Amino acid sequence: MTELETAIECQGLTKRFGDRTVVDQVSIAIPKGCIFGFLGPNGSGKSTTIRMLCGLITPTSGEGRVLGYDIVKETERIRQHIGYMSQKFSLYEELTVAENLDFYAGIYGLSRKAAQQRRSELLDMAGLHGREKHLARTLSGGWKQRLALACALLHEPDILILDEPTAGVDPVSRRIFWDVIHQLAKQGMTVLVSTHYMDEAETCDRIGFIFSGRLLVEGTPAALKERFQLPHLEDVFVHLVRREQGDVS
Ligand code: ADP
Ligand code: MG
Repeated sequence: MTELETAIECQGLTKRFGDRTVVDQVSIAIPKGCIFGFLGPNGSGKSTTIRMLCGLITPTSGEGRVLGYDIVKETERIRQHIGYMSQKFSLYEELTVAENLDFYAGIYGLSRKAAQQRRSELLDMAGLHGREKHLARTLSGGWKQRLALACALLHEPDILILDEPTAGVDPVSRRIFWDVIHQLAKQGMTVLVSTHYMDEAETCDRIGFIFSGRLLVEGTPAALKERFQLPHLEDVFVHLVRREQGDVS
């Protein structure tokens, strides 16, 4: 794979907090236009890996590039090119839909004209036209997540990085949210998304499963099921976790 075709890559990415290694030698290459699902139980190192790839925290060792930019030395560049929804990303509940978009447009430094144009495009994408004046807190789960996504897309990033965007969101809202993600990927967006939900993982182009900081497997959902001769991804992961814990030979 040439560099141009790779949106996100890292080799031997490692993060230690004190004497605890929470991300351990993770290597990934995510092609442009790919939806990459990042799976793993709570505390396995998903958010820490994502934060290193976004240039928000510095790796203890290893290296990585996002669109060719170094994740340690060119963090400012990376931030211009990614839309990031952190796990705790929250909208301003007492602001309206339009005011939330305007607020984030200000943060990204968009001109007034650019902000107006993007606002209209994103309201379309999120299906939020007609709800501009609704307070964010009055939106249901799915609408909220789509508004949050719209905010992360204001500066027209090439890459979307979403850390558990649908945690605790009801199944119908999750489905609608994922429809938007697939639509964006079709238009060429690269998406790195962490999730707990196996139904979401099944619809990703590639997935990686991280456990205790180590990337245990990576590949297409079909290839992983084939490799372990198991019918569902959930079975594959249960198998892997048991193997790690020494429950099966
Ligand atoms: P996940 O997103 O998969 O739930 P995290 O990357 O958030 O996992 O966390 C991995 C491990 O690293 C956890 O045990 C967590 O407590 C620890 N950890 C995360 N951030 C810090 C930090 N800033 N300082 C110390 N430990 C941390
Ligand atoms: Mg996390």
